Amino acid sequence: MSDNLLSVKDARARLLASLKPNPIEEVPLLQALGRRLAEDIRAPFDFPLFHTSSMDGFAVRSADLMAASRKKPAILEVIETIPAGKLPEHKLSTGQTARIMTGAVLPEGADAVVPVEQTDQDWRGEFHPTDVLRVAFFQSVESGAYIRPVGEDYRQGEVILSKRRLRPQEIGLLAMVGYKTVPVYRRVRLGLFSSGDELVEPGEPLPPGKIYDSNAYTLASLGEKYGADVVWLGLARDHPAQVHETLEGGVREGVDLLLSTAGVSVGAFDYVRQMLEQFGKLDFWRVNMRPGKPIAFGSYREIPFIGLPGNPVSAFVGFEVFVRPAIQCLEGDENPDRQSVQVRLGQEIRSDGRESYLRAIIERENEGYVAQLTGHQGSGNLHSLVSANALLIVPSGVKFLPAGALVSAWILD
Ligand code: AMP
Ligand code: MG
Repeated sequence: MSDNLLSVKDARARLLASLKPNPIEEVPLLQALGRRLAEDIRAPFDFPLFHTSSMDGFAVRSADLMAASRKKPAILEVIETIPAGKLPEHKLSTGQTARIMTGAVLPEGADAVVPVEQTDQDWRGEFHPTDVLRVAFFQSVESGAYIRPVGEDYRQGEVILSKRRLRPQEIGLLAMVGYKTVPVYRRVRLGLFSSGDELVEPGEPLPPGKIYDSNAYTLASLGEKYGADVVWLGLARDHPAQVHETLEGGVREGVDLLLSTAGVSVGAFDYVRQMLEQFGKLDFWRVNMRPGKPIAFGSYREIPFIGLPGNPVSAFVGFEVFVRPAIQCLEGDENPDRQSVQVRLGQEIRSDGRESYLRAIIERENEGYVAQLTGHQGSGNLHSLVSANALLIVPSGVKFLPAGALVSAWILD
């Protein structure tokens, strides 16, 4: 490669190494969905906490049914009914059984449960006779049948959740072990601004020579999608005082990461550069990727800063490649990783040898996926991104791939 081009991998590693995880806060369980758990969680008690019936039926002593058959059923005396949530009142002795419901505590003396369907009883519908005093059993039962033993799922002290992003099932597990609040990393406050004299807010009339500020909306939406609190800092015109004021807004808002779009191509970024150099630092990194080669990294008054290119597709790809892992890293994930899938090319691909992120549609085909590019790959062509459901990643150094070759892809939906 020519002059000091950074690989995507090295650029990302350098960026992430400069970030510190956000502080930890305790939030109510129902506000923790999608947040990153900040501590390993250990089971405060065995689960199940008591021997539990897994069926509606009868708790028995398996020895009592040893000789039971169709011809010679075992007849047991019903001593009580045990609903879920109530403790049994009696110990089971030889010749006795207790009606038991799913989730109810097994009575002392019992070592198995026989489902009601396997007896001469019939509890269908709402008819639950509690006046039946004798029940017939037609077969033997193994000790332990239909019982969830104490600690079957996990033992007290065992790590049941390690640091991770919380999904609905993790929220449920935390509730199951009695957590009302949970320690998570504070959500990332992402301070976003766009820059450029050509930009107009959507909804306003569009004078000649101007364009609507679409990046603000794409990037804010990406930020939200990846779990950040997006703080809109405004549209900075190309005036030093305005750029300064916009950056100061980020400080006042206490953002964790400053993100700007446009003006990182040479010569056009003077005021953001000037402000960052005056109050922090700024590096222009020429990253060996396409789209989005010129990317700015630095800090403003100690707040990390990322400057994405202005071209709408470059801004989008730059976010996926750098800002998304930065958000994850600020949320305590030291090793943000992204799942990719292997797809088969449905057409040949030519690239210029930089690591390329190509817009594509992938579809299921037999066991795998097949990919087609979505039209011309110009970095301003947001429409071809809208038709895409994946980004194909062509590694650096590769200039040609034949149809049928396998490449990695990020699924966008
Ligand atoms: P720049 O990075 O300033 O050289 O801008 C590159 C291209 O992106 C130019 O065509 C800009 O008009 C366009 N652009 C810059 N900012 C935005 C934005 N916020 N929304 C949409 N397009 C933009
Ligand atoms: Mg510009």
